[in-house]
Amino acid sequence: MIARPFGTTGRQVPVIGQGTWQFRDARRAEAALRLGLELGLTHIDTAELYRGSEEVVARVLPGRRDRVFLVSKVLPGNASYRGTLEACEKSLKRLGTDHLDVYLLHWYSREHPVEDTFRAMGELADAGKIRWVGVSNHEVAQLEEAQAVLGGKHRIVCNQVYYDPNHRHLELELLPYCRQKRVAIVGYSPFASGRGALPGPTTKGGRALEAVAKRHGATTHQVVLNFLARFPEVFVIPKAEHEEHVRSNAAALDFTLTKQDVAELEAAFPLPQRAVELPTL
Ligand code: NAP
Repeated sequence: MIARPFGTTGRQVPVIGQGTWQFRDARRAEAALRLGLELGLTHIDTAELYRGSEEVVARVLPGRRDRVFLVSKVLPGNASYRGTLEACEKSLKRLGTDHLDVYLLHWYSREHPVEDTFRAMGELADAGKIRWVGVSNHEVAQLEEAQAVLGGKHRIVCNQVYYDPNHRHLELELLPYCRQKRVAIVGYSPFASGRGALPGPTTKGGRALEAVAKRHGATTHQVVLNFLARFPEVFVIPKAEHEEHVRSNAAALDFTLTKQDVAELEAAFPLPQRAVELPTL
């Protein structure tokens, strides 16, 4: 599995990771996560929001915690100063570990002052409960607000945002900003959460995906992951609880898209004219 530098962390992190939202069958999910880890998908994304998922992740960590890049998130409704500290403790307990690699504010909200949330985040990092601080679903100005609270001592290392071929708006403003500031972009829901299939052969996008997949002897899902990960600051975290899906995702970067492939896909999934508000849950 190809790894690349994750923001300013100094850590090499696999480009393809594992999401954990909406597991349908805990045993099957556990086996899938375990297989993914064996295949090098060691970036695991979870959240206090994903009921039961942190407990499933806890079952695959023993004996290999140091090799896992573990990410969890605090809900905005819990993100007061004290609430953030407590939510982190609860996640650590559910995960059966003493630290997270990155802890994210799940989305920007004015429910609690940003100052309080990120003061707590800084303290969690100082105490070694989390290695790095991150955000999710943040626009540039919101990310800058969080960074301003953290000051010079801690850096926001990633922004986890929605990214599928039909929603490329992050490429307009967020991606150039994150590139300049060395903030990793973690693309979630690369398959649109599995709602329906990928664009089919009756659509321009679907035809492009199939043509590129055929040229490489790959699947259209693999082409999607490979396409989204074409920027050096982007990581992608598909969720899969079927073994064949995990194997497919782990092999998604085994081929290299040509310039022509990328041009065809970009033309088939055109960028919007301007940055739009990022979709959230
Ligand atoms: P997703 O990864 O876009 O899609 C998951 C669906 O795709 C599942 O039905 C899965 O099937 C299927 N799938 C996975 N690999 C496949 C493959 N190789 N071929 C065919 N189908 C495949 O959905 P998501 O869960 O929304 O997003 C991924 C992760 O991002 C989440 O689990 C979560 O960790 C994170 N996320 C973060 C936020 C946020 O606000 N920060 C929001 C949403 C998601 P099976 O499971 O049946 O194998």
